[in-house]
Amino acid sequence: MTFEDLQLAPAIVQAVQEIGYTTPTPIQQQAIPLVLAGNDLLGGAQTGTGKTAAFTLPMLHLLGSRPAAKAGAVRGLVLCPTRELAAQVEESVRDYSKHLALSSTVIFGGVGMNAQIQRLKKGVDILVATPGRLLDLQGQGVLDLSGVEILVLDEADRMLDMGFIDDIRSIMQMLPKQRQTLLFSATFAPPIRKLAQDFMKNPEQVEVAAQNTANANVEQHVIAVDTAR
Ligand code: AMP
Repeated sequence: MTFEDLQLAPAIVQAVQEIGYTTPTPIQQQAIPLVLAGNDLLGGAQTGTGKTAAFTLPMLHLLGSRPAAKAGAVRGLVLCPTRELAAQVEESVRDYSKHLALSSTVIFGGVGMNAQIQRLKKGVDILVATPGRLLDLQGQGVLDLSGVEILVLDEADRMLDMGFIDDIRSIMQMLPKQRQTLLFSATFAPPIRKLAQDFMKNPEQVEVAAQNTANANVEQHVIAVDTAR
C-alpha cells in the first residue's frame, strides 16, 4: 500500500514523500481511511508506530478540502500531555502541511505567554497544546475554540496519569458538539473508555502493537565479533 492508495490530497502525499516515507505504517493504513470517512476514532498505538501521521495526515486532508466552519477560529486542536510531545507533534504538522495553506502553532506552559498570545492573535488553523496552558490562554480571551472541527487527544492515558482529566473535561465544554474526535492511547483502561463514552460518537477502534519491541518471552543476546568473522 502507498500513501496515494489512501486517497490523501496530492500536496500531502508530496510532503510525506519529500520526508522519505514510502509505505504507510499499520496504524496509518488502518486509521487514515476511517478518519477521512468522518468517523470518531479510538487509536491504540504508542510512540514509534507512526501515530502522529495517522491522525495528522487525514486531519490536514479534511481541513484543507473544505471551508472553515468559523472564519478566524482554530479548526484543528491537538492536546498533548507534555511540552516535548506538543513541540514534536507541531513540528510534524508543519512538515506534513508545507504544501497546504494551513497554519499551525504550539502552546505549552513553563515559558512566557506573550509570544504565544501574539501568535494566536494572528489566527491559526491547527493548534497543538498542553491542557493547562490552553485553559490559561482561553481565560485571557485570546483563543476562540468555538470553531474546532477536529479534536485529537494524543497519549490520552498519559494525560489522565498526569492529572489532566478535569482540564480535559473543561476544554470539552468549550468545543462545538458537532466535531470529529480522535483519541490515541497506549492503553484502554476504564477511565479512557469513560472519556470516550462521554465525548465521542460511535467511535471506530484500531489497535497496533508497539514497533521495535520484542515479545517479552523472547530472550535476546548481543554477541560482538571482529570484522573478519
Ligand atoms: P510517531 O509514532 O508518530 O512518534 O512516529 C515515529 C517515527 O516514525 C517518526 O520519526 C516519524 O517521522 C516516523 N514515521 C511515521 N510514519 C512513517 C512512515 N510511513 N514511514 C517511515 N517513517 C515514518
